[in-house]
Order: sequence, then C-alpha cells, then structure tokens
Amino acid sequence: MNLQIESPLISGLIDFLDNSPTPWHAVDSATKRLTRSGFVQLSEVSGWTLEPGVGYFVTRSDGALIAWRQPKEVLGWTIFGAHTDSPNLRLRPKPVLKRHGYFELSFEVYGGALYAPWFDRELSLAGRVVISDDGVLRSKLIDFRRSIGVIPSLAIHLDRDANLGRKINPQDELTMLIGRADSDNTLDFKNVLAIELSVDAEKIVAFELCAYPFEKAILTGIDHEFLMSARLDNLLSCFLSIETLIQNEAAEGAVVVLNDHEEVGSVSASGADGPFLESILRRASSDLDFEIIRVRSLMISIDNAHGVHPNYALKHDQSHRPLLNEGPVVKVNANHRYATTAITQGIIEQAAKDAEIPLQYFSSRADLGCGSTIGPITAGRLGIDTIDIGCAQLAMHSARETCGAQDPELMLRLLSQLTRRDLT
Ligand code: ZN
Repeated sequence: MNLQIESPLISGLIDFLDNSPTPWHAVDSATKRLTRSGFVQLSEVSGWTLEPGVGYFVTRSDGALIAWRQPKEVLGWTIFGAHTDSPNLRLRPKPVLKRHGYFELSFEVYGGALYAPWFDRELSLAGRVVISDDGVLRSKLIDFRRSIGVIPSLAIHLDRDANLGRKINPQDELTMLIGRADSDNTLDFKNVLAIELSVDAEKIVAFELCAYPFEKAILTGIDHEFLMSARLDNLLSCFLSIETLIQNEAAEGAVVVLNDHEEVGSVSASGADGPFLESILRRASSDLDFEIIRVRSLMISIDNAHGVHPNYALKHDQSHRPLLNEGPVVKVNANHRYATTAITQGIIEQAAKDAEIPLQYFSSRADLGCGSTIGPITAGRLGIDTIDIGCAQLAMHSARETCGAQDPELMLRLLSQLTRRDLT
C-alpha cells in the first residue's frame, strides 16, 4: 500500500475534525474555510444581489450552512448534503452533581450513541454560550481544548459479570467526574464558563455543551491505511462536500447543504426536515421558474456507510459487504430508508465510470433494520431526485470511529465528477 500520509486532503480533514467538536464548531470551521476561499457570507434577513461566478454561503442557528457558487444562469442545482451533528453527551441546564466527595457533570444522550466507548477516556467540553450584553443576546462558541474529566468504569473486582454483556444505564452511569468536593465546597457551572470565556458570570444566560473525546484524529494501521477520529459520521462528508465546492470553481449550480439534527430525526429550523434548503434555493433561483429548476436538480446525500467488520461479517448481506479503501458506497434500501433509485443509481454509476472510481454497494440484511440519512427527507420535502452514498466506516456512533485513509480522495473525485453533470 503506497499512501501519501501527509496528503493535503488528509491533513485538512484532520484539522477539520479536530476543530469541530460540536455541530456549531463544524459550521464555524466550514465558514472559515469558505471565507479563506473567497466565499461571501449572506444574511437571511437582508436582500441579496447575487453576482454570477461569486461564491456565497448562509448559516442558520449556528449548526447548519448552505454554500453555492452563483451560476450565470440557473438551470438546475447539484446539491451535496451532509449533517453536522453526531451522537454524543449533552450537558443538562443544571449539570453539577455533588455526591460521595466528588463533583460530577450530568448529561442527556444525544442521538443513538454507543455508551461503552465513553468510559475511561479523557473528555473535554465544547459548545455555545449565550451572553447578554446590555440586553442584547449573542451566541459565542466555547471549547475547553483540554482534558477536564472522565467517566470511570467500575473495577472488575466489584462487578465480576462485567464481561458477560454489561448493561449501561445512561441516567445513572454516564456522569463525568470533574473533581473532588469537600463538604462545604460548591460549584457554579456558570462561573466555570465565565472564567473560560473571560466574561462576567452574570452575563451568561444559557449554554449548550457537548462532551467530546479529547484525543485527536490520527492515522493508524501498519501502513497508516485507516483514519481514526470522533465524529467521522458525518464530518467526513461535510468536509468533502465543502472541498468539492471550493476545488471545482467552474462548477455551475453546485450547492452544499450541511444540516443539523440528523441524528435526532431532522425536524428543526436547521434540520433537513425544515425549510432551510428550499428557502435558499428559491432565493438563489429567483428569476427562473423554480418548478423547472427543481426537476433538473439532483441531491447527493453523503453519509458514511457500514463497512463490513471482520468479526461480525454475518451482520451484512453476503453480497453487500463494503470494505474500507475500496471506494464510495452506494446505499440502497427497498423501504426508502435511503433515497437511491434506479435512475439516480444510473447517474452515479456513469459518474464513477467517467472518473474511474470503484463503487461498492450496501443493502442491509432483510432481518435487520438500517439507519437513514437526510436523503429521503430532502427528496420528500423538495421532490428532487436523490442518491445516498458514503465512505465505508467501522464503529459507527462510537466515541471514536474508523474509516479508510484512501476513501476521502476517491469520494472527492466522484463528487467533483458530479459537479460536471449536464443540467439541461
Ligand atoms: Zn450519519
């Protein structure tokens, strides 16, 4: 295996992953990348004058973003969609517990997280804090950027059955130990935030914070064939969508939509089951008949796929076992949990052939349900033909996930090919 370990794409991806511990940070990272590449930020509350050839982007609720380069004439849109959120632990409004001589933080579980990987890991916190400046509210990102706590396991000596299928109660067991507490100690969490942000504690009105594993993204495998990181699902696809838009300057009608809240059903102002994408597409297509543009448009929903795990190969249908580093995975589901149809499959097959990229297929076992994506939701809301694809990964929804180090490049080449599709 001859890998470019220091490829600019992989180091850019690692930076993006490490700097995006929450959906709001992912949008901030994408904003910085787009701005550095000359894209102009627009506000949803002002009027727009769009210049052909200029790149624009809009953010919503800090957690969603839409970017595009305005075409000379809008014939149709080629939309690359991914989600900014990942399953994790979300701090409660009153998070501090004091018991048995310790201070702990308490969480709700966001999305379908695997619980076990959160134990015995160095954990940090990041999120957003709402600050009142003389009655004017503004949201500010926060990232502690250091290990501040741990969720310790119970020793095997105190639970001899721990290796026989341990059940984890998220209410009782997923609390983060952050320090010792004497009987007269108190801990006001807003004070902790105030010190971290160098603001007055009284000015802090509200906060949304996530725990995240402090370890950085890293290449692993004897030949560095794998990339390990938190939040590969689905920051890998967010990163590749943005890179596709930036690197294909001549692409007419390419759009990137990064939605929040996919892991909890997508129903929100910034989720795929909200009005964000349709509203922006209508505004960017304003002088043309949107119904015609809609029919000519294509949505490529990019979300990681389940690579086959060698210890559990029987969890996959025997003819649909995607491997890491074997190319993008097309996801098909008869019950439309994925939005791929024979028509859109044909489009992706053609693009892969033209770009000389191998494709793999995922179709889940008939006796196992599969996940879903923003694909079917966007197809349903907008009536736009959609395909579901993604890079293969292992350990989906773990606190640390693993993907192939070559697949990002292959996916980028496939997405770039799709920006050149005929829109008429
Ligand atoms: Zn996902």
